[in-house]
Amino acid sequence: MKKDVQDAINDQIRAEFESSYTYLAMAAVMESANLKGFGNWLRIQWEEEVGHAMRLYDFVLQRGGQVELKALEKPKVSSKEPQKLFREVLKMEQDNTARIHKLYDLAVSEKDYALQTLLHWFIDEQVEEEDIVDDILEKLKLIGDSGPNLFLLDQEMGQRSPEEA
Ligand code: MG
Repeated sequence: MKKDVQDAINDQIRAEFESSYTYLAMAAVMESANLKGFGNWLRIQWEEEVGHAMRLYDFVLQRGGQVELKALEKPKVSSKEPQKLFREVLKMEQDNTARIHKLYDLAVSEKDYALQTLLHWFIDEQVEEEDIVDDILEKLKLIGDSGPNLFLLDQEMGQRSPEEA
C-alpha cells in the first residue's frame, strides 16, 4: 500500500473514532435530559462508528500496512435540545461524507482498486446515515423540543436495536 494512501486511511480511522466519541458524548447528554430513547439511538451510532473505524483498521492490516492510532479531540456537544443536537449530527455526517469522497478520489488517483471497492460500502453507508438523520431532524422540526410527541419519538428511538443498525 502506498504511503499517502496509508496515511489518509489512518486519518479516516481517527475521524471514525472521533465520530463515535462524539455520539457517545451526545448519548450522555440526551440521557441526562431524560431522553433515554435518543440516548439509545446515539449509543448504537457510537457502536456503528467504531465498526467503521475497525473496517478500515482491518483493511490496513490485511494489506500489510501499519495502523497508526491518533489522538482524539474532546467531543463538542453544544446543546441538549434534540433539534439542535441532531443538526450537529447531520453536519457531522455530511462532513464525514465529504472526507470519504476525498479518500475515494485519492484511491482513484493512486489506482488503489481494493480501497475503491471498500469505499463503495462507505459511500452507500453515508447516503443511508444522512437520510436517516435527515428524517429524524424533519420529525423534530414538526414536534419541537418538548411535549407529548417528543415523548413518542423518544420511545420510537428507544426501539432501535443494534441488529438493524
Ligand atoms: Mg462512519
